[in-house]
Amino acid sequence: MPQQVIEPRFRGFLSLAAHPEGCAVNVREQVEVIRDSIGVVAPGAGSIGTALVLGSSTGYGLASALVSCFGYGAQTLGVCFEKAPEGDKAGTAGWYNLAEAHRLARADGRVFETINGDAFSTEVKQQVVEALRRLGPVDLVIYSLASPRRKDAAGTVWNSTLKPIGAPYSGKGFDLRGEEVTEASMDPATPDDIESTVKVMGGEDWSDWITTLLDAGVLAPGARTIAYSYIGPDLTAAIYRHGTIGHAKEHLEETAHALDATLRGAIDGAAWVSVNKAVVTQASAAIPAVPLYLSVLMKLMKERGTHEDPIHQVVRMYRDQTAPGVTPTTDEHGRIRLDDWEMEPALQAEIAGIWDGLTTDNFRERADYAAYQQTFHRLFGFDVPGIDYAAPTEVDRPLV
Ligand code: NAD
Repeated sequence: MPQQVIEPRFRGFLSLAAHPEGCAVNVREQVEVIRDSIGVVAPGAGSIGTALVLGSSTGYGLASALVSCFGYGAQTLGVCFEKAPEGDKAGTAGWYNLAEAHRLARADGRVFETINGDAFSTEVKQQVVEALRRLGPVDLVIYSLASPRRKDAAGTVWNSTLKPIGAPYSGKGFDLRGEEVTEASMDPATPDDIESTVKVMGGEDWSDWITTLLDAGVLAPGARTIAYSYIGPDLTAAIYRHGTIGHAKEHLEETAHALDATLRGAIDGAAWVSVNKAVVTQASAAIPAVPLYLSVLMKLMKERGTHEDPIHQVVRMYRDQTAPGVTPTTDEHGRIRLDDWEMEPALQAEIAGIWDGLTTDNFRERADYAAYQQTFHRLFGFDVPGIDYAAPTEVDRPLV
């Protein structure tokens, strides 16, 4: 079995390495959070039944798959796009997360399966249909893909962008490589940029998934589906909510209404968008100003005792909004709001008060950049307490 010393190699918001044992510890900790907060429902009566999680290997999707499987006893099928280890070449963090999730599920007599491939493709949709014919119809579908590009069913490749709409952006940015607060400026999106971003991160693919599952007869009566969205504060609005990605999220939210009507009519099912809080993930690290915003947010939410990672958010969502028999509480647009603690007006006012004064010289004191950085490193299995990074670790970890 190939054992290797795996050293961190970060390039800005990218990690070129992943530590298998660090990722395994992260997953075990998430399962502990589930056990401590909602206990553990055995497969069978009272469980969610069968869950499908699209984007299951990291971030919000991984948390959703873990809560489905270990918290609510669901047979859990995940879809992700990860690199498997090859010989002595290590795989990606998402792969190692799932290797540990599979191992824990198996040891506990639970079903956790993964299809590793392009979720936007017709082939992977068909593989999922086949798997569900074997496992049984699906009760809960979570849509948690975050991708820079999508090849649609016709073979057209669309690239998503993070650009302002209508006017150039200028405001605070953060250079993760140089660890400097910068003045960022960005030209506004073209109509093509907007259309492409909606194609990748809007609701079209979610809709394709639900239609495919419905037509194939693999959605259980009363099946529910939830896709994740973000709104965020005024500070990031020009680049996020009013920018290309926010446009795509509006499309996702409109898609929820259309899917809800279809599912209610066809199988007494339902569709929602859940607006989640900002958290440290691979996807959010790439958004200008967001790492700096998260550093301030983490400091203040920790001080208030309201800090949450994806696993805490998803536990809260399942327990309060989507557990069997529970009807979600939504805002006036029909959205589940898990960002309520982040958007709390007093907290946002405090963040706004800190924001303008942030400089390269003071951001380490005024924001908790150390916490941001450790959380970011942990996404890839680094900076995990208790791991000896000088020791070789097994890189060939299969999805059993
Ligand atoms: P992430 O980068 O941690 O996870 C993305 C997942 O998508 C991974 O499992 C990856 O393997 C999978 N994926 C990407 N391309 C794929 C493809 N072509 N085929 C199959 N799988 C693919 O992202 P995240 O931050 O957890 O984001 C998930 C969702 O949550 C997104 O819709 C995002 O907008 C939303 N959200 C994120 C935040 C945040 O702060 N990170 C906040 C609110 C909402």
